[in-house]
Amino acid sequence: VRIHEANLRVVARSILKHAGSASDEARVVADHLVRSNLAGHDSHGVGMLPYYIRFLSRGTLMPNTPARLLKDDRAILMFSGDRGYGQRVAREAMCSAIERCAETGVVLMTLCTAHHVGRIGTYGEQSLDAGLVSIHFVNVQDHPPLMAPFRGSDARFGTNPICVAVPGSATTEPVLLDMATSKIALGKARVAMNKGVPVAEDEVIDHRGRPTRDPGVMFSDSDRGALLPIGEHKGYGLGLACEILAGVLSGGGTIAPVNEQRGAIVNNMLTILIDPGRLVDLAWMRREIDAIVAYAKDSPPVDPSEPVLVAGDPERLRSSERRTEGIPIDPKSWADIVQAGASVGLDPATTDRLSRGTPQS
Ligand code: NAD
Repeated sequence: VRIHEANLRVVARSILKHAGSASDEARVVADHLVRSNLAGHDSHGVGMLPYYIRFLSRGTLMPNTPARLLKDDRAILMFSGDRGYGQRVAREAMCSAIERCAETGVVLMTLCTAHHVGRIGTYGEQSLDAGLVSIHFVNVQDHPPLMAPFRGSDARFGTNPICVAVPGSATTEPVLLDMATSKIALGKARVAMNKGVPVAEDEVIDHRGRPTRDPGVMFSDSDRGALLPIGEHKGYGLGLACEILAGVLSGGGTIAPVNEQRGAIVNNMLTILIDPGRLVDLAWMRREIDAIVAYAKDSPPVDPSEPVLVAGDPERLRSSERRTEGIPIDPKSWADIVQAGASVGLDPATTDRLSRGTPQS
């Protein structure tokens, strides 16, 4: 199926409201999920709703929970998400950090114990809207580990993402690097499995540490495989850095089994916000960004049909395509979403009607 973004927002909002969220929270979470789909990151889009409904029923995701300020020390802000929807609490924590950055020029913000914060690029975009540079390190807890350490044969880390956002200029789009430290995100394996297609070589190993292209090994209860880190020892090192920067410095903790697992997806995030105008002349910075991005993109492509891009371009291209063509959702993922809605009292016929209606906002 292909669903118009506005209709998908309405469906996601309805499911979230039936699952107990107040209107504002449902709007923020639904908007984040649909924007992830628009950006092409279906792994962090509306396909997460069935998981969220399961975690709500287990009491490991707490609806209607705001970000709670733990510490305010001028350029240091620490928050706890208290297992509230990550899309909401991270947005609130970012709003406070952005406001503070206007005074202090730089802010170190931590957020511990948020339920799944979703696509980290969303927070990069929030800071870009304020003209700021942002750097985010994230770790994952309360979920079985997914990524093997370099030379290891089983999973010991989450897919620990890192994001760097840098404003563009009048002619250059912002640079938005937003990446898991695993070669693929777990959700990409889920989407591949639901579509019945293999993953690429060297992305996944089976439960004995042998290479495989079967995404299903990541979802086996008994013989679970592992995702491999990007860049061998270097990606592994970055994943470990996320455990320490996001997990330890936020106070939330790491994925190590010394910390209790209750079965959900909990994220800790360390964010550095920088007001670039406090460091350099902004007009000069924009000329430099224009120059370096143009220089990179000017490299003759190996394959003429695949020009050089910069981080953020694929998501922008995908968004403009999906805004007009609609968001594709594979039949299995859609059936799971409809079922998740039904489990919280949203009639499947209503979900179907909302998904097909004249687009509304
Ligand atoms: P990806 O591999 O699709 O993209 C990674 C980065 O590379 C992006 O910034 C993208 O713009 C850039 N890129 C892609 N193709 C490019 C090209 N040809 N040239 C230049 N740059 C290019 O993303 P991913 O690593 O699979 O991550 C997917 C999403 O999953 C991210 O949004 C991430 O935040 C999210 N994530 C979240 C969690 C969590 O626990 N909340 C965990 C892992 C990942």
